[in-house]
Amino acid sequence: MRLIHDLPLPALTSFLVELGEPAYRAQQIWQGLYQHFYNSPDQFTNLSISLRAKLAENLQFEVLTPISQLVSSDKQTIKTLFRLHDGQAIEAVLMRYGDPASSEAERSRDAASTTGLRPYAQRGRKQGRRTLCISTQVGCAMGCVFCATGQMGFRRQLSCGEIVAQVMYYARLLDAQGEKVTNVVVMGMGEPFHNYDNTMAAIDRLNDPQGYNFGARRFTISTVGLVPAIRRFTRERRQVNLAISLHAADDALRSSMLPVNKKYPIDEILAACREYISATGRRVSFEWALIRDINDTPEQARMLATKLRGSFGDAQHRLLCHVNVIPLNPTQGYPGQPTTRHRVEKFKEILEHAGVACTIRLRRGVKIRAGCGQLVGCVD
Ligand code: SAH
Ligand code: SF4
Repeated sequence: MRLIHDLPLPALTSFLVELGEPAYRAQQIWQGLYQHFYNSPDQFTNLSISLRAKLAENLQFEVLTPISQLVSSDKQTIKTLFRLHDGQAIEAVLMRYGDPASSEAERSRDAASTTGLRPYAQRGRKQGRRTLCISTQVGCAMGCVFCATGQMGFRRQLSCGEIVAQVMYYARLLDAQGEKVTNVVVMGMGEPFHNYDNTMAAIDRLNDPQGYNFGARRFTISTVGLVPAIRRFTRERRQVNLAISLHAADDALRSSMLPVNKKYPIDEILAACREYISATGRRVSFEWALIRDINDTPEQARMLATKLRGSFGDAQHRLLCHVNVIPLNPTQGYPGQPTTRHRVEKFKEILEHAGVACTIRLRRGVKIRAGCGQLVGCVD
């Protein structure tokens, strides 16, 4: 049976017309799916019972079945394991930042102000960031040694609908609490540029003004560096943010950690990023998981700074890129250790001294194995 979230609006329209229904029914269903996050035909109370029954007969509404949920001890990270229609499983994560419920101080300050009005800039900002990390494949074919998803190998591509449904699941969950998704990072299981068409179709779907209407700039796609796909992404002039998983500044080290580097070495990736930056004027982020004594050394930091300055420095000495470092998250199949606090600071200092912006990413949900590179979609 076809998954309802796999159908674009024209396909849904022809399906309804074939059933003898007027075309505007498709719009009604579209709004139900993407504005009210319905996931069962019974919820479409604006449709006749007989049409609801026909929909249930012909289309699958439960694209993803949540089978377990882990919540971090601070309640800010939730990881959900979903079963797919063929029994495979994937995971997706919600990360809350700046939860207003916890900012008691801000509320009492507001209450104490003489006018009782919040400053204009704060009005309407009732919630903090709600970032989803979504998957694009079951497993991954890229085999990065430090990544749990890579360690499980490639099982299959997710369809557009299976990617979209992860966002709809959390949109529904947040909506019940009066909240909204604010950002989506395509950094869960799988390599999005190895499933380019379905990933972009999912982003376009979520972007649709008649549907969920989620701005392209609020997406970030992370890729291991598939050069032809980076070029295609550049040609398509997408407004989506781009992150590249670099992790090493020389090819020998990078190839030992990310086997795909043998096919697309560092300089080719950086050249493709340069084209992207000059075509779009947008910044690129480079991801770097710091592994003790492997890629957290001052030499690697210096080599990285030199490469980035050489590739992205412009006449005004600006650099349209920045580096995100994160201490390695432990995974079962890799013996490497996370770097130390001191070495993270040192790494950042060397980059910044050379004029390269660097942010240290917070590790989130590590204990519930919801951190970067820890998702495996294991049903047991
Ligand atoms: N396949 C894509 C996106 C999914 S991985 C990519 O590789 O970019 C999301 C991010 O987690 C990537 O930057 C990846 O390099 C990083 N990552 C993988 N395993 C990790 C680990 N054990 N610790 C920290 N980051 C990890
Ligand atoms: Fe795949 Fe990304 Fe993991 Fe590498 S880091 S194995 S590309 S999911």
